[in-house]
Amino acid sequence: MDYYGAQMGKLIEQLSSLPGIGSKTAQRLAFHIIQMPADRVEQLAGTMVEARKKIRYCRECCTLTDQELCPICSNPARDKSVIMVVENTRDLAAYEKTGKYEGVYHVLHGAISPMLGIGPSDIRLKELMKRLEQDVREVIIATNSNLEGETTAMYISRLIKPTGIKVTRIANGVPVGGDLEYIDEITLLRALEGRIEL
Ligand code: ZN
Repeated sequence: MDYYGAQMGKLIEQLSSLPGIGSKTAQRLAFHIIQMPADRVEQLAGTMVEARKKIRYCRECCTLTDQELCPICSNPARDKSVIMVVENTRDLAAYEKTGKYEGVYHVLHGAISPMLGIGPSDIRLKELMKRLEQDVREVIIATNSNLEGETTAMYISRLIKPTGIKVTRIANGVPVGGDLEYIDEITLLRALEGRIEL
């Protein structure tokens, strides 16, 4: 990429290190950025820096938030005795969009994958078990229906069973391997309503 000069090369290289951005897209973005007004570029960069600095994990459910407690956990109208376990904050957002779920969440930030070397201690499971010491009557496992999601669901259900708390799994209406965030609201609701006890 020497023909662009070192500075441009560096920008393209850094952009292409982002997920889903290949070298062509990185080049297009880089050229777009250098043609943007300087103050817009500063604003964009500043927003990134600030978000990275301020966004953290909710003390209760581990979702990403800029408060100590996320808006869902701090909402007194939400039923704290029902916890839906999801893989990431995007999955939480997908269920929130349905507007029909009144419980709270727990965000694992990943799924168990022996193939990728991701074990139970690499996701937010300890935090979930700690929450179960409070008054919880149901844990709904809404991990994805791919191999990792199923492995995680099985592991969690085995972990929780001895506590006597009801453990359910969302129904199979969710396409195999489907990322929860891309599934429409009706399918999500159907999966939630048709959940089965493990
Ligand atoms: Zn929370």
